Amino acid sequence: MSDRPKIRLYVDQPLGPGQTVDLSRDQANYLFNVMRLDAGAGVALFNGRDGEWRALVAEAGKRGGRLICDMLTAPLMAPPDLWLMFAPIKKARTDFIVEKAVEMGAARIIPVQTDFTNAERIRQDRLQAHAVEAAEQCGGTFVPEVCDLQRLDRVLADWPKGRGLIFADEALVGAEASLAAAPPRDGWAILIGPEGGFSEAERARLRGLPFVTPLSLGPRILRADTAAVAALTLFQARLGDWA
Ligand code: SAH
Repeated sequence: MSDRPKIRLYVDQPLGPGQTVDLSRDQANYLFNVMRLDAGAGVALFNGRDGEWRALVAEAGKRGGRLICDMLTAPLMAPPDLWLMFAPIKKARTDFIVEKAVEMGAARIIPVQTDFTNAERIRQDRLQAHAVEAAEQCGGTFVPEVCDLQRLDRVLADWPKGRGLIFADEALVGAEASLAAAPPRDGWAILIGPEGGFSEAERARLRGLPFVTPLSLGPRILRADTAAVAALTLFQARLGDWA
């Protein structure tokens, strides 16, 4: 582990033996002004594809710089094939959901517009940057894609064959919280509703779909952000990479 530098940085460039990585102004500012690194210092780089590489500072400038990769320090560790679908809520809570989804190991994050969703738009770029930061911070080598806002009815209409959908249904409050009865599937998604919950029409439709597994999250109604973390935990423990 001592080979793994503490400072981690996501870069959108290929990584490999001897590979040169040119830094943007922001990255150079972070490494050389904020973190005060000098030439020769080590930085851990990842790009979501090639694992984590130790790179050494070859050139440190005010407006840029250059690193050279020298060894693989961790292989790419992709999360299980799990999507988190959630209805965007207030900004800080939406940010929290994205951050926790990365830490908890979601492969894709899909904000969905439901009948009772207030938000009509999201800042996809801001949420994606948030996902990158969360991966930098939690030692992850994978960055899930954050999709643009999509309508739930359309997502359900185009549902990929074989994928299961775990529907966190607040109407099941008090029922046993378990995924023990989930059938085998080719990948999964979790669906969390907005503050106002799901409409009766949505609930009826979801319950009628063959790929849906309804899930209770225990005896209390959770806020959507809490519900997302709780459902991800249950999934990882039962069907995912904690199991
Ligand atoms: N306003 C709604 C609750 C919405 S909670 C009501 O009072 O009924 C936000 C979302 O979190 C829900 O849509 C659901 O997806 C999830 N959730 C919260 N508590 C839950 C529980 N006990 N069981 C299953 N899902 C839950």
